[in-house]
Amino acid sequence: MKQKRAIVTMVLAAVFSIGFLGNFSTTQDAAAKRTVKVVKVKKVASKPYRATKGYMYNSAKLTKKIHNLKNYKKTTFYSKKRVTVKTSKNKKAYYMYVANKSNKIKGYVYSKYLKPYQPGKTTVVKTPSTSGSGSSTNTPTKPTEPTVISKSDLESLIAASPDLDPTGQLLSLTSEDYQTYASVFDKNFNVGDYAHKGVFNNDQASIYVESQQLVPYVQKAIDKWNSALGTTAFTLGTRENHSMVLGFGDGQIAGWDGVFYGSGIAVDYTSFHDHTYPYGRLPVSNEPITITLTSDDDSTGVGDGVAAHAASGYHYDADVHYVTTTITGVPADLLETYWVGVITHELGHSLGLDHTPYFQDIMAAQSGT
Ligand SMILES: [Zn+2]
Repeated sequence: MKQKRAIVTMVLAAVFSIGFLGNFSTTQDAAAKRTVKVVKVKKVASKPYRATKGYMYNSAKLTKKIHNLKNYKKTTFYSKKRVTVKTSKNKKAYYMYVANKSNKIKGYVYSKYLKPYQPGKTTVVKTPSTSGSGSSTNTPTKPTEPTVISKSDLESLIAASPDLDPTGQLLSLTSEDYQTYASVFDKNFNVGDYAHKGVFNNDQASIYVESQQLVPYVQKAIDKWNSALGTTAFTLGTRENHSMVLGFGDGQIAGWDGVFYGSGIAVDYTSFHDHTYPYGRLPVSNEPITITLTSDDDSTGVGDGVAAHAASGYHYDADVHYVTTTITGVPADLLETYWVGVITHELGHSLGLDHTPYFQDIMAAQSGT
């Protein structure tokens, strides 16, 4: 699974000709062992670049790596020559002969690993450049600030990633990139308010459940997240030792089944104890029943992902623009699944997740559409 994802990431990165900072140096090592022939050398104007990854070679024949460019991410290089080489497989590739300002770090770099660098534009944080690759006639000034990815490059990366699922280079940008475009990331990946400081310690939150009645529900919600995340993000805490509280509250007037308030979660007492909620009066039996859920039903919240996440398959009705799905189970289990869903959803908020527009997501909600 992991392997497959890495390959997909590599293909996407290649398509967009954007360097990425993953752990794929093995492919670069393999490339370095090829024998190459220099077929053309051309003098080029001196333009500033930043290297995204790869190596600097001593000669155009790429016989020796002299620098790992990941150690020179903040060094501005200036182009001198462009070299066309042919690989043993008879493929053309372009290398640039570049040097830093002092002319001490110099050599050949694969041209696709060089990005035009415009210090004037990238340091303006509030109005990130929306233009594509540089056609600026500005003479380069001495860079004083770390470079920030351009908005168009970021948008390409987001477009290349599956919806709501950041992959590839998106996961290894600099903290300056994330800070500059915080609202872009929040919008595209449904990031909301993170838990208060102190709730997560070493990426773990420990939950004290005030009501014994809620413990089995909370335990199931914890298991869901820990298994989905592949790590222990939540544990059950005690009254004496916890970082987060979960108990009953009153959501009747405000209209919530569950709420995350920064340092804890409340579950609505009245609805939790009302067995006609949210599906109406259910038969008292151990026979499985089937309930149809519709995405437009916002009066009870049943249309939200909390209920629908337990469904298998769904149907989109183009006439009315509704998604319908069904859930099947013994009545008591369906109610349990619902409330486990409410708590799982609120725990998702504590992780910094906002609502998603997908009916069957645990984080789906009408307000997220
Ligand atoms: Zn919510």
